[in-house]
Amino acid sequence: MSHHDERTFVMVKPDGVQRGLIGEVVSRFEDRGLKLVGGKFMQVDEELAREHYAELSEQPFFEGLVEFITSGPVFAMVWEGADATAQVRSMVGETDPAESPPGTIRGDLGLDLGHNVIHASDHEEEGANVREIDLWFDDDELVDYGLDTAAWVYEDEDH
Ligand code: UDP
Ligand code: MG
Repeated sequence: MSHHDERTFVMVKPDGVQRGLIGEVVSRFEDRGLKLVGGKFMQVDEELAREHYAELSEQPFFEGLVEFITSGPVFAMVWEGADATAQVRSMVGETDPAESPPGTIRGDLGLDLGHNVIHASDHEEEGANVREIDLWFDDDELVDYGLDTAAWVYEDEDH
C-alpha cells in the first residue's frame, strides 16, 4: 500500500542511550503500528554531526549540540508507515521536554532542552526525512519486508 510506506529518520540520542531508554522508545513506535526498516547502534563522528545539524550551524548552541551528539553512542532508526514523519513528531513532543505534554516521548522521559532523548525528522521541513535517511543509512541497510500485522493496523491492507 503506497500511502503506508512513508519513511522517517529517528535517533535515540546519547542521553537516551545512557539512561537505558532505547527499548522504551522502540516500543512506542512498534506499539503504534509503525514498521522498523533500519536500525544501527553507532558512535557519531564530528563530520556527520555537523552535516546532520547543518541548518543550525549559526545558532549559539550549535557547538554544544555537536559535542553532545558525539559524546556517546546513539541508536539510529528508520520507521515506516502512513504519514510517518508527522505522526512520529507528534509522538516526540516539543523540542523542550519541559513544554512537551505527558504522553509524548520528551514529555514522559525528559526535563531539559539540551537532553531531550530523541531526534526525529521535522515534518514541517519539506524532504527532511528523505535527506536524513540518505545521510545516515546506505540503501542496503534498509530492509524491505512485509509486516503480517499491517492488515490489522490499516483497514485497507489485505490479509
Ligand atoms: N537545541 C538546544 N538548544 C536550543 C534549541 C535546540 O540544545 O535552544 C538542540 C536540541 O537537542 C534539539 C536540537 O538542538 O533537539 C535540534 O533543534 P531543533 O530546533 O531542530 O529541535 P527538534 O527538531 O529536535 O525538536
Ligand atoms: Mg529539528
